[in-house]
Amino acid sequence: MEDKQIRETRQRLMAKYEELMRSINRNRLAAEQISVEKTEDDSDLARINHNKDILYHQNESDFHRLRFIEEALKALDRGQYGDCVRCGEDIDDKRLIAVPWANLCIRCQEEAEKAQTFSDLVLAGPEEEMDL
Ligand SMILES: [Zn+2]
Repeated sequence: MEDKQIRETRQRLMAKYEELMRSINRNRLAAEQISVEKTEDDSDLARINHNKDILYHQNESDFHRLRFIEEALKALDRGQYGDCVRCGEDIDDKRLIAVPWANLCIRCQEEAEKAQTFSDLVLAGPEEEMDL
């Protein structure tokens, strides 16, 4: 990988990292607000719990994504960025552009999705991030 490409990739990863941090902080504030809400009403209570669940899951997936980005940045430092963590093959350039923190090649990704045993790795898949 060329220096310029490494720099650009790092910038993209950092931008995404900061975006996630903002999102996590926002959700934490929202969760704090929800937890001070008090109600005797059952339907209100259901709504509050539902909102808490949504925030909780949102934060879980944000944290997951954050970990992947951290790993991608470390791999970039080690010069191993773009290597599949499972088979060691190069990850396709197009895939890295779509999902800069991908750590599996498309073949391993598909196998992992089929096996469902790599739930952590599967989260790095492209399906949620097609807007990139
Ligand atoms: Zn692979």
